Amino acid sequence: MEFAILSDSFNKMETTRKRLELTQFLVELFQNTPNEVISKIVYLLQGKLRPDFEGIELGVAEKLAIRAISKSSGIPIKKIEEEYRIEGDLGHAASIVLKQKTQTTFLVEDITVERVYETLFKIARLEGARSQDMKMKYISSLLNDASPLEAKFILKILLGTLRLGVAENTVMDALAITFSENKENRKILQHAYNVSSDLGKVAETISRKGLKGIEEFEITLFNPIRPMLADRVKSEEEAIEKFGDEFAAEYKLDGERVQLHIEGDKVILFSRSLENISSYYPDIIEKIPKTIRADNIILEAEAVAINENTGEFLPFQELMHRRRKYKIEKAVTQYPITVNLFDVLYCNGKSCLDMDYKDRRSKLEKIVIEDNFVKYIPMAIVKNVNEVEDVMENSINAGSEGLMLKMLDKPYQAGSRGSHWLKLKREYQNELGDSLDLVVIGGYFGKGRRTGNYGTLLLATYDEDEDKFTSICKVGTGFTDESLDQLYQILNPKVTIKKNPRIDSEMEADVWFDPELVIEVVASEITLSPIHKAAKDKIRKDAGLALRFPKFTGKIRIEKIVEDASTNEEVITLFKGQKKVAHDKSLI
Ligand code: ATP
Repeated sequence: MEFAILSDSFNKMETTRKRLELTQFLVELFQNTPNEVISKIVYLLQGKLRPDFEGIELGVAEKLAIRAISKSSGIPIKKIEEEYRIEGDLGHAASIVLKQKTQTTFLVEDITVERVYETLFKIARLEGARSQDMKMKYISSLLNDASPLEAKFILKILLGTLRLGVAENTVMDALAITFSENKENRKILQHAYNVSSDLGKVAETISRKGLKGIEEFEITLFNPIRPMLADRVKSEEEAIEKFGDEFAAEYKLDGERVQLHIEGDKVILFSRSLENISSYYPDIIEKIPKTIRADNIILEAEAVAINENTGEFLPFQELMHRRRKYKIEKAVTQYPITVNLFDVLYCNGKSCLDMDYKDRRSKLEKIVIEDNFVKYIPMAIVKNVNEVEDVMENSINAGSEGLMLKMLDKPYQAGSRGSHWLKLKREYQNELGDSLDLVVIGGYFGKGRRTGNYGTLLLATYDEDEDKFTSICKVGTGFTDESLDQLYQILNPKVTIKKNPRIDSEMEADVWFDPELVIEVVASEITLSPIHKAAKDKIRKDAGLALRFPKFTGKIRIEKIVEDASTNEEVITLFKGQKKVAHDKSLI
């Protein structure tokens, strides 16, 4: 397939942020896409080469790209840099300088999507001493045969600056429209994506085999399953109201969620956002196979830091010390953990997702043998408020955050925040009633002791309808010197020259970040706001919602992707909830 078709389509998509229009452009593109390349196109349009969990990154530096443009076109480096400074985007700048140039030269041959993809893939795989030279060679040979528009998008993909704003949901909408008449089929596609986390594979299957292929889609060992999430409740009474008279109460441990894929001695671990995190937990990789009585299995657990002397659970932050590339062995002994299992999703070649909670739990207890390192998460079947309170008390005393409440007769709903699991945290019982997980979109340079760091951050909620990040508050309290340093290290590489198109904010900021980091804040109240964009027009026309007295809790939620941040829907619910509390109080 000619790469020109794809770059034309990207060019159209860049002109809009509207989900319906983007969907329409995607449908037109998919209609012109042969089976063999559709998966590649699905990855490319999200600026990737493979699904996230494979961790393949292009990692091409701007300097190298500029040299390659110069080599392939003969345009001096200085001229390219000058245009880049004006445009703020290297892909765009390259297309402008190349346009001036190509008026006088011929293009040698058409380039195909396959060729671009294979070359990018080779670049991503290059390592070692000569890799920079080889990257240069590959890039300039592609640019040699590319039109200015094609060059623009090749460079954007290479540099990681292609931001079409196409979310997974939009791609699935477009696939459903292109390959099936019935809108209901969107659900089947969603299921296939939930059990594979690989949108390219889903696209290729529906394109080759139609809906039937998608219906037969199965879990593949070592491909992560999208996690089931919980709704929150504020009190034991509310839980009883929702769940009735008998359900499971498990400790809600404050660690890192880990999905374990195991076959013999081969073990791969995925985080909550489906990143391969095996290298941070060599102790799990070594010890877990000995405890399993099955040929292959997918388990879910919370890895929790512990105090080795007392066995007490320690807070999530302790695990951050393991997020390092070197000397991990030292971190393993310094920050010991236990693996606390709470679910089984697949066993001996078969999915367990459709089994009831209680059957999954008993299977888990049969197939895994507990030892000092691997344990089942403590669980009790409860029937009334008193019993829930008892388990809550024990859970808090053991150093965990609260409870996860689970219906006994329900399946595992991959990829959805359903009402079959509820979370009840102690902290919900104060102030706003909950903490919020917000996306960092902007920063302000600090003064005094904070000079050289970002002293204040601009935060946003996730707007699911528009697939955007809407500003909700600035936060400047709750930071320690250590957390400010840590945030600076993480945020600095995310600084952009232009505001990312997925950000919706009228606030000014000293710097804008690509929306990639989630942090936790608490606040005293949610108020209407004339400036902030969260839930704009939803409660009152021309007003959004803002947080009053927001404070950073110290939790950098590295395990969360930005689409998992608090949504505008959730903020509206909290806003309405606080009205109700105020009203109830005034009645007393
Ligand atoms: P939170 O912000 O409360 O950690 P979350 O958005 O990460 O929540 P939820 O599904 O809402 O995810 O809450 C469940 C989280 O709590 C899981 O992702 C997991 O990391 C953790 N957890 C701790 N104990 C359990 C348990 N017994 N069962 C399921 N999840 C548990």
